[in-house]
Amino acid sequence: MRCQTEPAAPSQVHAEAHNMTLLAKLLSTDLARISSACHGVRGLHDMRQLRTLAEHLDEIRQHAHAVAALTAEHERLPALDFVLHKLEHVRKSSQCLCALYLVDDLFSPVDEARQGNIRILDTVRTGEVLDHYACQCTHCGARYEVEENEYYRTWWAWRVSPTRPLARPAPSQAIAVHA
Ligand SMILES: [Zn+2]
Repeated sequence: MRCQTEPAAPSQVHAEAHNMTLLAKLLSTDLARISSACHGVRGLHDMRQLRTLAEHLDEIRQHAHAVAALTAEHERLPALDFVLHKLEHVRKSSQCLCALYLVDDLFSPVDEARQGNIRILDTVRTGEVLDHYACQCTHCGARYEVEENEYYRTWWAWRVSPTRPLARPAPSQAIAVHA
C-alpha cells in the first residue's frame, strides 16, 4: 500500500535543512560556526523557520551561556545576544520583526532596503549633511526615521516616525472643520 503522506515541497525541505544547519551551528562549540549562524538568524525573515528555531530557545540560551563561560572576554560574540533577543521576540510577540530595529544599532537602512524589508521613502539632508532616512517597513507599514552615525564604525539609530496629524485628521477634527 502506498503511503498517502504528501511529500514535503522542495522549498520546505530546503528550509528545514537550512534551519537544522543554523540550529546545529548555534549549538556547536566552534565560535566561527556560531558566529556564522548568528549572521544567518539576523537576516532571517521566514517566520516558520524562526518559530522552529525559537522552540529551541532555552537550549540555545543555555548553550550560549556555557560557551560564554569558556570563552575569553575578547572573543565573546555580541551577535549571539541579538539572536537570543530575536528568538525571544518571535516566541513571545506577534509584533513585526521591524520592532527589533529599535533595539540594535547594526541595521543599515540601505542593506534592509536592498533585502526588501523596508522602503527608503526619503533621504533627508540638512545642507550637504545626511540628517536621517525616512523608511517604511514593507511587511507591516510602520514608519521609521534612521540616523546614521560614525563612531569607530558606522551605526544606525532607528526611531518610530512621529505621527503626522495632518495626514489623517481624527473624526472630531473633521467635524470642527465643517462646523
Ligand atoms: Zn514591520
